[in-house]
Amino acid sequence: MSEDKATQVYDTVVARNPGETEFHQATKEVLACIPPVLAKHPELAEHKVLERLCEPERQIIFRVPWTDDRGEIQINRGFRVEFNSALGPYKGGLRFHPSVNLGIVKFLGFEQTFKNALTGMPIGGGKGGSDFDPKGRSDDEIMRFCQSFMTELYRHIGEYTDVPAGDIGVGTREIGYLFGQYKRITNRYESGVLTGKGLNWGGALVRTEATGYGAVFFTQEMLRARGDSLDGKTCVVSGSGNVAIFAIEKIRQLGGTVVACSDSGGFVHDPTGIDLDLLKQVKLVERGRMADYAARKPGSVHSTTGRIWDIACQVALPCATQNELDGSDAKTLVDNGVVAVAEGANMPSTPEAVEVFLQAGIAFGPGKAANAGGVATSALEMQQNASRDSWSFEHTETRLGKIMASIHDECLAAAEEYGAPGNYVTGANISGFQRVSQAMVALGLV
Ligand code: NDP
Repeated sequence: MSEDKATQVYDTVVARNPGETEFHQATKEVLACIPPVLAKHPELAEHKVLERLCEPERQIIFRVPWTDDRGEIQINRGFRVEFNSALGPYKGGLRFHPSVNLGIVKFLGFEQTFKNALTGMPIGGGKGGSDFDPKGRSDDEIMRFCQSFMTELYRHIGEYTDVPAGDIGVGTREIGYLFGQYKRITNRYESGVLTGKGLNWGGALVRTEATGYGAVFFTQEMLRARGDSLDGKTCVVSGSGNVAIFAIEKIRQLGGTVVACSDSGGFVHDPTGIDLDLLKQVKLVERGRMADYAARKPGSVHSTTGRIWDIACQVALPCATQNELDGSDAKTLVDNGVVAVAEGANMPSTPEAVEVFLQAGIAFGPGKAANAGGVATSALEMQQNASRDSWSFEHTETRLGKIMASIHDECLAAAEEYGAPGNYVTGANISGFQRVSQAMVALGLV
């Protein structure tokens, strides 16, 4: 009966949102875990909680006109999907990447709702972005684009309404231009309206590092639960952006060696360990490519063919983008002796890959649990903004560590309670769902 309900809701999602394959994929995974909860709590079905959860509260699509450095007019499309505000103001990042469309933003907003619930903090779920491609654009072009984007977005956001942050293609530079334009239009220095701000204009220590550090803390917790640790482990981290760089930093601090990372132009295998200072110089300072890193690091090899997941490792952290690790990659990783995989990115493993990891019995941390440290630290930034305070790095990192340990324990406990011991996918989905659905019922039919 409960299975029928979940299938029926999924069929409706597919019919009502044609062509939005990533959104279908994300809802399918969550809905598959929910029947045992509905069986225990039939009132949730009466309140149509599943149907309501799969329909965003609000979807905003807007034109973003701007002028490039040659004086030519460019038109992009902007999105903000305000998915669920049962637990707090909508919260979730903005992504600037040519692949962005409504289905991708909806999948990210849906995931975000459960992730934010898992943190135990008062934040709802939302996501946004644009099909704008920042690659190769000058600072001035980025600024003009961000100003135009905010000229529409500002009317939909606010510290008690909707609080965007960064994601792919949106870092401190972009948040700065967005915040500057918000401040100018509204005539309010409303720090809590955006997170991921610079440290001298309302930002918080550890926010930059938080997603990567958090994913590694989560990995360490999964290994600890199995009497193991990251110390001495060979690791592969895909991507070389915000999440990947700080995952690599924390792995190194905990005694692991990262031998490969990537960007959309290929991957670098560096058997003696990625040189973090060089990586930061190339990626964060020069905004260069992994090929530039390889050209400057003797002994490393840059590949534009093959798969990063062919490199043997004990721990793998996909930290680039959705569906970057498929079933065949997962088999290779398992055959090569991987013991833990944690998703720094959102939904980087295909359903087939997840199945391979679960069948193999390795420790697998799904993104909505493993990468929740970013949004949790954003919520800490909001707390600091609200109290006009700023906390030390050590204090905030300790809080992040505790939050990740608590998410880990909660996932394990929910998985155990619902008959899937050790399955963090089931645990994360059920635990997040319980928290959001209880609030939705309490708030009535809204
Ligand atoms: P960045 O833009 O800083 O870095 C993204 C990295 O992934 C880059 O190395 C990029 O390469 C690579 N990448 C992006 N798209 C593709 C693609 N289609 N194919 C191959 N490589 C690709 O983004 P983040 O590090 O912030 O985000 C990475 C992931 O983590 C995303 O899934 C995001 O949703 C998720 N995440 C981010 C959080 C955050 O706090 N930033 C919080 C939680 C999750 P290139 O430069 O060549 O494009």
